[in-house]
Amino acid sequence: MDLGLPLSALIPSWTSVGILAAFFIYLPIFGSILPGKVVPGVVLRDGTRLHYRCNGLLSLVLLVAALGIAAKMEVLSPTAISDRGLDLLSTTFLFSFLVTLVLYATGCNSRNQGSSLKPHVTGNLIHDWWFGIQLNPQFLGIDLKFFFVRANKKGMMGWLLINLSVLARSIQDATLNRSMILYQFFCAFYILDYFVNEEYMTSTWDIIAERLGFMLVFGDLVWIPFTFSIQGWWLLKNKVELTTAAVIANCFVFIIGYLVFRGANKQKHVFKKNPKALIWGRPPKVIGGKLLASGYWGIARHSNYLGDLLLALSFSLPCGISSPVPYFYPIYLLILLIWRERRDEARCAEKYREVWAEYRRLVPWRILPYVY
Ligand code: NDP
Repeated sequence: MDLGLPLSALIPSWTSVGILAAFFIYLPIFGSILPGKVVPGVVLRDGTRLHYRCNGLLSLVLLVAALGIAAKMEVLSPTAISDRGLDLLSTTFLFSFLVTLVLYATGCNSRNQGSSLKPHVTGNLIHDWWFGIQLNPQFLGIDLKFFFVRANKKGMMGWLLINLSVLARSIQDATLNRSMILYQFFCAFYILDYFVNEEYMTSTWDIIAERLGFMLVFGDLVWIPFTFSIQGWWLLKNKVELTTAAVIANCFVFIIGYLVFRGANKQKHVFKKNPKALIWGRPPKVIGGKLLASGYWGIARHSNYLGDLLLALSFSLPCGISSPVPYFYPIYLLILLIWRERRDEARCAEKYREVWAEYRRLVPWRILPYVY
């Protein structure tokens, strides 16, 4: 995405519309026919429970394989995405705007969702449009929340496709170096790992508590794939020579971040399924029969956020420290997760009452022990 290009680069082209349309036709079709583990979601506030088929990894691998074959047969350029970053960005923005309008209109119309919470219409147009009206709107039997969140949860699939196209551009320009390889490897690992562990995402805040409005749609379709890939775009234009010590330090941050992030999310998921399951080889410490207070959840109330922040930092470190631009993602995530933690804290305090107060007493740190 060359930020020096004129504004005309932002005008959607038919090619971008075609790329986006192909992506969104592929996902629901293959998402509904490919096999995958069917996972029951958490029980919602209205007592109902949705089921999710987790076949994101298979969908993604098939998609990347198909694109690879198309590129080999010269039907499609591997740099098709990286050659029109701004154009694709504006097309996706318009698309998410339209999707939100439809969600808003259907949300206002529907009064009684059989499988979900009742619509939450505040009457404040901007609020309802931004935060959404329905928790789990359905369309033709597809849970739109899971569709969007999975299709592009933190831009996952789109992010990988953009990165691969940026990688192809870097190879074509003969600028591939350690920095680009590290950035690409870390992100690809993180994205594939996300889909391997897709079922853990069925109990996350976005799925269980956030209504589907512009914030989620825009976040998943536009913000995530385009801003998470800033480091890749930046590396296309800027040469960075990393020392071996810097590479090792960078890998260290990535590994620690990954262990904390994945370990914490997994412990909570396992605990929700079986509150007696061992945590780090020991019986779990449980408060009020509901909250896990050992393992990562005994160190800080949101260790999973700490792991994610370290990972985000590791995605930017390959760019060196000459510019703040590649650090946009970790800085944004820091702000987002501090805000998210506050909202989650308020939600849990209301839901668990004295049990949560006891948890707070036992585990006083929010994200980073002894600091915050
Ligand atoms: P969590 O996965 O931390 O889920 C919070 C919920 O977990 C709470 O509302 C509560 O729900 C339950 N819970 C909290 N503490 C405990 C406990 N001690 N024992 C048992 N249950 C508990 O939050 P998110 O969904 O926000 O985050 C999930 C992952 O996604 C994180 O790793 C985060 O870093 C990542 N993320 C990444 C973002 C990005 O842009 N890269 C953005 C947002 C999140 P309940 O009512 O079910 O008990």
